[in-house]
Amino acid sequence: MAVRRKLIREMVEALLAKHRISHGAVPVEKIVESYGIKLSLDEVDDELSGFLVREPGKNKRSVIGANKAHHPHRQRFTIAHELGHFLLHKGEMVHLDQGRGALAINLRNEQSSRGEDQDEREANLFAAELLMPAIFLAKDLEGVSLDILGDSGVLDRLAKKYKVSTQALTFRLANLGYIQL
Ligand SMILES: [Zn+2]
Repeated sequence: MAVRRKLIREMVEALLAKHRISHGAVPVEKIVESYGIKLSLDEVDDELSGFLVREPGKNKRSVIGANKAHHPHRQRFTIAHELGHFLLHKGEMVHLDQGRGALAINLRNEQSSRGEDQDEREANLFAAELLMPAIFLAKDLEGVSLDILGDSGVLDRLAKKYKVSTQALTFRLANLGYIQL
């Protein structure tokens, strides 16, 4: 099964509209908290970027955690990534994102056609769509000639505005066809 690009784009568009967000930086913490999810910055092993613990009980709160030692822009991407898992991969009870890959403890039935790599790609795409919406970028890049985009000063300024890493922005712009890597 392919990554559900259209579904993810539509989910993010609905979220941005619901929260009346029309430009970067997208307040990802506020969106997470609107689901009643508890946010937690933890001192954890450097290998661990983030985690999601789903608590299905009525009075229990699910938790999204990010590594306290990581750069705030990286934490934002991690938080958005975990929100992607929360919304897209409902069978999972606990999800850990580590440098070497993700570990998921889930209740999914064995016939699930989704693989773990696909879940990670979907969560990354969700995070990129949420933190760097294509229509917001299009507005910011209007009139910017594409050959000066390679100038790191432009990318750095735009990354600061969206509160994402320059690397995440570069990948996003490449995926959207603005630049070639
Ligand atoms: Zn993940």
